[in-house]
Amino acid sequence: MTYSLDHPEIRDGVTRLCAGFPGSYWRECDRERAYPTRFVEALTRAGYLSALIPEGFGGLGLPLSAACAILEEIHRSGGNAAACHAQMYTMGTLLRHGSPDQKAQYLPGIADGSLRLQAFGVTEPTSGTDTAALRTTARLDGDRYIVNGQKIWTSRAEHSDLMILLCRTAPPAEGAKKTDGLSVLLVDMREAVGNGLTIRPLRAMLNHATTEVFFDDMTVPAENLIGEAGKGFRYILSGMNAERILIAAECIGDAKWFIERATAYAKDRTVFGRPIGQNQGIQFPIAKAYANLRAAELTLREAIRLYDAGENPGEEANLAKMLCADASWQAAEMCMQTHGGFGFAEEYDVERKFREARLYQVAPISTNLILSYLAEHVLGLPRSY
Ligand SMILES: Cc1cc2nc3c(=O)[nH]c(=O)nc-3n(C[C@H](O)[C@H](O)[C@H](O)COP(=O)(O)OP(=O)(O)OC[C@H]3O[C@@H](n4cnc5c(N)ncnc54)[C@H](O)[C@@H]3O)c2cc1C
Repeated sequence: MTYSLDHPEIRDGVTRLCAGFPGSYWRECDRERAYPTRFVEALTRAGYLSALIPEGFGGLGLPLSAACAILEEIHRSGGNAAACHAQMYTMGTLLRHGSPDQKAQYLPGIADGSLRLQAFGVTEPTSGTDTAALRTTARLDGDRYIVNGQKIWTSRAEHSDLMILLCRTAPPAEGAKKTDGLSVLLVDMREAVGNGLTIRPLRAMLNHATTEVFFDDMTVPAENLIGEAGKGFRYILSGMNAERILIAAECIGDAKWFIERATAYAKDRTVFGRPIGQNQGIQFPIAKAYANLRAAELTLREAIRLYDAGENPGEEANLAKMLCADASWQAAEMCMQTHGGFGFAEEYDVERKFREARLYQVAPISTNLILSYLAEHVLGLPRSY
């Protein structure tokens, strides 16, 4: 297979690192629902998780294209970056909107890995996609906020020191948008756990270290407010393009893994005295998955190019997220079918990757909401919700 590959040295380095974490490693973590601590530590030591932190704060100061290359190669190797990818982009809220003091206090630790900022508390059980309907409140009381409420699907909370928390500090002002009055707090979970913060693991279809978190009069110093009170939703939105693009890169890595695995298996597996890959019924779905992958990858490259050129490519980031997630899911389905019954056997890793690839149809944003964005913001159709 020929791919246009940027950042070859980074890709090579990540591939070599990932070779130390073969399918058996990920299978065992998956079986035990264990956090891939050794992998995350190795990635941190190699500096990759600080890719997007400016050099002035101790990071690598690389463009988004480099971060994409890192995540794509992790997924292409058969691994899963979901255990730590938020460490790369969740800090963007702090980087773009934090005060000089907040950045100086936290970013160097995040860059060297001594501090983990990879919990992102937005989704709640009752609000779901309708973020403005969230019910977690933070009430200012002197020099601290008092937080009450609940989040769900707060991934990696047990493996994070800090959390970016979106909560309501005031009702929307008269005539303002529903998202007015939401604020972002940087929560130091090391102090909060057991002091108003409870984390409960949520066992899911895939090994994602996801949790429910409960706030019961949890206090957060007022100085941990990021930016201005009431404007938090726009701070969260400002990181969405980067997040969509990075997730799309993971999907491309998954699609490549599925296609490479299926191709190898189709050449090797002999039934009726010939390789199954000799049948067009097997060849064509693989070729189709490859065509979809390449088309999605080109869209992603355009989104990355615009982002790294300093533009705000909302359309391209959304297109890339949706098309890359679709390409990886189609490739997953094809790979499963190519493997026949063996696709269901744990030792082939196909069923694990299949479960992992399914997530990106729903999170961090579901396909319907991307279609809504395109319909409303690109095509000018009436708002549907
Ligand atoms: C493994 C996992 C990890 C996650 N990690 C995090 C995390 O770290 N932090 C965090 O904050 N969240 C996280 N999430 C939450 C994720 O972002 C949400 O699940 C997702 O945004 C969808 O919200 P929901 O599940 O409440 O679906 P709902 O909002 O209940 O929607 C259900 C379905 O209805 C559709 N729908 C809803 N409204 C409309 C509409 N107006 N038009 C058309 N279709 C609509 C949706 O697209 C979806 O298909 C995670 C989720 C999972 C599964």
